[in-house]
Amino acid sequence: MSLTGKTAVITGSNSGIGLGIAWELARAGADVVLNSFTDRDEDHAIATEIAQETGVSAQYIKADMSKGDECRALIEQAGACDILVNNAGIQYVCPIDEFPVDKWDAIIAINLNSAFHTTAAALPMMRKAGWGRVINIASAHGLTASPYKAAYVAAKHGIVGMTKTVALETARDPITANAICPGYVLTPLVEAQIPDTMEKYDMGREEVIEKVMLERQPSKEFATVEQLGGTAVFLCSDAAAQITGTTISVDGGWTAL
Ligand code: NAD
Repeated sequence: MSLTGKTAVITGSNSGIGLGIAWELARAGADVVLNSFTDRDEDHAIATEIAQETGVSAQYIKADMSKGDECRALIEQAGACDILVNNAGIQYVCPIDEFPVDKWDAIIAINLNSAFHTTAAALPMMRKAGWGRVINIASAHGLTASPYKAAYVAAKHGIVGMTKTVALETARDPITANAICPGYVLTPLVEAQIPDTMEKYDMGREEVIEKVMLERQPSKEFATVEQLGGTAVFLCSDAAAQITGTTISVDGGWTAL
């Protein structure tokens, strides 16, 4: 599978799943545009490392995905966007009647609204280029719910719905739109939930991972960022040209339960 000549923009890609997807798309030959809201030397160094290791062109663009105008500016600044991976996301866990309004607003803005803005900016470029892939990183929480994750579950169900609409609006174009729904992947987002969960259940780290986090993941293994990157590369392949408007679960069987 060669993605040489294609440009991929991956939101929220200086760590975790977004970075794993950037690596796999670059290994498949795509030029990559990395993003987050920070502007540190180490952010730009990641792009340099990817370019040196894979031979593609890679750049890092700072843009805050909680702000609509910056989402649209990211796509404009990228200059090309054949593959759009809407990945930026945050989490906050709290009962709904105590859920802080600013946390709700931030999760909906970053996990859902940003994909609206980037997709709106990218589709005209894809139509002009005559090829495009929209890949939204949803979650098993885009298909099922858990308590205390109201904003996250709402945003992820929302992005699954938006994926279907984008697929219908692009059905006659050589463009597809799909959502990848990961189960638990051991990234900084998940690491951050471990200490609170250890305290809440009075458990050690390994017990929390096995009995709480992977409780609903029948494989009892985390999915990896490389597996998610491979799934994104597959969605960019010719074999996936008629796969549109759907979800692909990478969740060790979670949603089969
Ligand atoms: P992560 O914390 O490692 O990565 C999140 C990325 O989003 C980071 O690069 C961060 O800098 C970026 N980001 C956060 N706020 C931003 C903002 N305002 N503007 C731009 N970028 C911003 O977490 P992750 O686990 O890799 O999560 C990536 C995506 O995968 C998220 O959408 C998450 O909901 C989804 N997901 C993760 C898991 C999991 O188990 N880790 C499971 C299902 C879905």
